[in-house]
Amino acid sequence: MREGLVYSIPLTTRFRGIDVREGMLLRGDAGWGEFSPFLEYDDPVARPWLDAALEAADEGWPEPLRTSIPVNVTVPACDPERARAIVLASNGCRTAKVKVAERGQDVAEDEARLEAVRDALGTDGLIRVDANGGWTVAEAVARIPLLDRAAGGLEYVEQPSPSVEDLAAVRRRVDVPIAADESIRRAADPYRVRDLAAADIAVLKVQPLGGVRACLRIAEDIGLPVVVSSALETSVGIAAGLALAAALPSLEHACGLATVQLLASDPTSAPLLPVDGHLPVVRPEVVEAAVSAPPERIAHWQARLAAVAALREDR
Ligand SMILES: [Mg+2]
Repeated sequence: MREGLVYSIPLTTRFRGIDVREGMLLRGDAGWGEFSPFLEYDDPVARPWLDAALEAADEGWPEPLRTSIPVNVTVPACDPERARAIVLASNGCRTAKVKVAERGQDVAEDEARLEAVRDALGTDGLIRVDANGGWTVAEAVARIPLLDRAAGGLEYVEQPSPSVEDLAAVRRRVDVPIAADESIRRAADPYRVRDLAAADIAVLKVQPLGGVRACLRIAEDIGLPVVVSSALETSVGIAAGLALAAALPSLEHACGLATVQLLASDPTSAPLLPVDGHLPVVRPEVVEAAVSAPPERIAHWQARLAAVAALREDR
């Protein structure tokens, strides 16, 4: 059984319902790989995450075509003052991704947040929103024009509604481009997005989709511009996202890889934080002494790795 270091790192802001990020760092001849499926994911769902980690550790990645990747700042579903402060503190990001459609909030809150982001970003920045499937088709069709106006123009709307069919229906009724995230990442068939012409842009995440090479194949087959996003990883996992962004034949949009600052610490010697709105295409070294977790969490992750590795072996 392969050995791995287990990390447990608090988040600086509660995100996707969690306060602590956990996972494993696996070492191989090619370097370090990150295996950090979210805790609620069962073993079959976690399997592509392990494929991605072992690709990073054992094979490495295809040759990069670029050395630096533009990244977006991420604004959670917060109040306008905080949204403004996050954009101003983003180290030069010229694209902002703003969460909308949060349960318990109304459209006026989304509009106020977008106005604040536009004010902080200036007229030449790009604003995209992510609804995480939070709207019905009718809500999406009613709200997207309002948010487009509040933002002074939207680059795209990510996953306005849950299903691929909904996405296709929304796309036919609004002028703002549509990006598919969950409809690719969690779908039994990522190509339904292409077959139903449900999106203008594909959001790809390396771990849930099984590695850099698997994502390059999906990108080629799906035939849409790609935005590479993180799964809230340490710099070890982010490096894999950068390798994908660097290997894509073309890259038209900023990527969602500037998320290391959401973690209170990072287990590498050179955390991947943006400078002038870009991340360098590098693999930072793991500082083994900086990787720690409570003993019961180490036991949990060792058992998890063994269970998911067993699934790979009986294929
Ligand atoms: Mg998303």
